[in-house]
Amino acid sequence: RAKNDSRGTFSFFEAGMDARAQTRRKIETELREAVQGDALRPYYQPLVDLSSGRITGFEALVRWPHPERGMISPAEFIPVAEETGLINAVGGLMLRRACTDAAQWPDDVRVAVNLSPLQFRVGNLLSLVVDTLKQSGLPAKRLELEITETLLLEKSSEVLATLHALRALGVRISMDDFGTGYSSLSYLRSFPFDKIKIDQSFVRDLAANPDAQAIVRSIISLGKGLGVTITAEGVETEAEVSCLRNEGCHEGQGFLFSRARPNGEIVSLLQTQGNWSAATGAALVA
Ligand code: C2E
Ligand code: MG
Ligand code: MG
Ligand code: MG
Repeated sequence: RAKNDSRGTFSFFEAGMDARAQTRRKIETELREAVQGDALRPYYQPLVDLSSGRITGFEALVRWPHPERGMISPAEFIPVAEETGLINAVGGLMLRRACTDAAQWPDDVRVAVNLSPLQFRVGNLLSLVVDTLKQSGLPAKRLELEITETLLLEKSSEVLATLHALRALGVRISMDDFGTGYSSLSYLRSFPFDKIKIDQSFVRDLAANPDAQAIVRSIISLGKGLGVTITAEGVETEAEVSCLRNEGCHEGQGFLFSRARPNGEIVSLLQTQGNWSAATGAALVA
């Protein structure tokens, strides 16, 4: 980020592409060190059942505590990780940690892990998941894997076969950021999945904007027609919750309930979840 650069914003933009490339290289080098030094950590954000107010699971979101720059956002380094292929190592360690952590949680609580399309291309994803479940002791049914519509664009029979094999294990497949990709509705028919996550851009302004409401309503009815669970991402207000509940959306995830938290806080978060009332929509955690 320009504003974090000691040379200042001006020189950053003056130097143009060179500086940008340099910043990328710096991120790449440091990310490689972070992976090798096992410095990356999953933080966990609750998925909340909108009718009962109970936590059904947590999404694992990668966090990079950087010695000088504080917590670096995945928005900043996931693209670099994907360009350099480091995403396979990042994805592998996230899967391992998430399954190991979740195996210690109550046995009705799931964990969701994000997968990059690149992880499907290296060819060992299925055995990685099988091995990780075995080593962690986490039952397959407690693991959810989040994929994006870009994966469907590949229309590859290998991707399809891998998704079917994962589901045959009992793992659940979620379609992340739904509505932001370019997949046509007909792809949805040929790809096996269990959950649609409505992208947060549609959830924003839901209470005030009739267009957003119409889009969310149709995604929910599409999901119901397909028999899948529907989760709304980026839920920030009580107005959004009541709107989503009225439309019959099953689950919500967002800052209203909780931000992503380190594993050390998850068990106590689960114990205090009664503090969040489905009736009032009060925040899960103050
Ligand atoms: P995502 O999978 O769609 O994750 C949801 C993102 O929305 C997270 O951002 C989360 O912190 C943020 N979020 C949750 N609730 C709210 C809310 O109420 N308001 C707002 N404004 N934002 C909210 P985060 O952690 O920065 O992650 C960004 C993206 O980076 C993720 O989007 C995902 O695509 C990617 N990512 C994160 N961890 C991994 C990973 O382990 N592997 C891969 N391949 N990608 C990851
Ligand atoms: Mg996700
Ligand atoms: Mg998402
Ligand atoms: Mg998103």
